[in-house]
Amino acid sequence: MLRLPPHDTSFPTSIADAVALRVNAGAVGAYVAGGTDLYPNMKRRQQEPRRVIDVRRIPELNRLEVAADGTLVIGAGVTLTRFMRDARVRADWPALAHAASDISTPLLQNMGTVGGNLLLDTRCNYYDQGYEWRKAINFCMKKDGDTCWVAPSSPRCWAVQSSDLAPVMVALNARVVLAGPDGERTIPVAALYHDDGMAFLTKRPEELLVRIEVPALTGARASYQKLRRRGAFDFPVLGVAAWASFDVAGQVSEARIVLGAVGSHPKSVPEAAAALVGGTLADDQLDEAVRLASKLAKPLDNTDFTIGWRKEMASVFVRRALKGLRPGGT
Ligand SMILES: Cc1cc2nc3c(=O)[nH]c(=O)nc-3n(C[C@H](O)[C@H](O)[C@H](O)COP(=O)(O)OP(=O)(O)OC[C@H]3O[C@@H](n4cnc5c(N)ncnc54)[C@H](O)[C@@H]3O)c2cc1C
Ligand code: SF4
Repeated sequence: MLRLPPHDTSFPTSIADAVALRVNAGAVGAYVAGGTDLYPNMKRRQQEPRRVIDVRRIPELNRLEVAADGTLVIGAGVTLTRFMRDARVRADWPALAHAASDISTPLLQNMGTVGGNLLLDTRCNYYDQGYEWRKAINFCMKKDGDTCWVAPSSPRCWAVQSSDLAPVMVALNARVVLAGPDGERTIPVAALYHDDGMAFLTKRPEELLVRIEVPALTGARASYQKLRRRGAFDFPVLGVAAWASFDVAGQVSEARIVLGAVGSHPKSVPEAAAALVGGTLADDQLDEAVRLASKLAKPLDNTDFTIGWRKEMASVFVRRALKGLRPGGT
């Protein structure tokens, strides 16, 4: 049986207290929400915080509301189950509800949160293993070792950002509000990530993710498609989020395509999205966008399935996501 390493847990009830506890804990501190990512990682000794700060009792993190200007405001501690079942989210941001419902399993959705999902640790076949397994290969650069087994001559880690919600949030131009010792700051979700498997967040360690703000779709449409081995369980090995707005004639006026699980950050492919502008998403008008997006999807050999097949699937899943932008989603 895998056991958690020794640690203590605090349960602050305000943002200020949580941040103060995290600042005091320094390098051995960590926030936790549902714990569905952090606790398994602790059991495998991938993360070893000694002072864990549980954020679930902070009221501001449990808000889920639509602001007067139509913005969806999601407290970071809202569970995936509550989020995906919310009637407003299902009606007005169906791509987000769909992506949340594709995450892991109902049990984990009951515990896991929207904020925890955006801040998920990056993943790799050589890293997501028990301590003894990793020790047997002398660990790797991301934790306790100095070599990257995926690209041994590489100076960086290529672990993969595998959040299902992250690419959709980026496609929807969502923002995150972070609270630190000096107050709050708001940044686009896209700016939350670094293309680096180890330093994959721009968020400072002591900053608490308070809420996510998603603009109203107002006539635009969005979609999400996920490739994984088992439809009822697994992390994505490819996620494709798409968003488009339309002019009065029904032609695409602006578009975004974001690829998840093909790199250490959600990868926007504006070149591909630009190919949709001026068209009506007819079958033959999707070809160039599909070709460009799948060309830019460069999966590495550190997740499930072979790279060649995943690369081939990129064009299939990008096409499906773009068809999902049509009225009725087909
Ligand atoms: C078997 C299994 C299958 C899974 N499948 C999927 C899947 O298909 N897709 C997917 O996207 N995920 C998957 N997950 C990962 C996980 O369950 C979800 O991503 C979940 O939403 C994580 O949320 P959490 O609240 O449990 O995160 P936690 O484990 O509580 O936290 C995750 C990280 O975020 C930090 N954190 C949490 N909240 C805050 C906050 N408010 N401010 C600052 N830092 C914070 C923690 O310190 C930690 O580093 C899976 C997990 C398991 C175990
Ligand atoms: S990409 Fe390399 S350094 Fe990063 S987790 Fe995998 S093996 Fe380790």
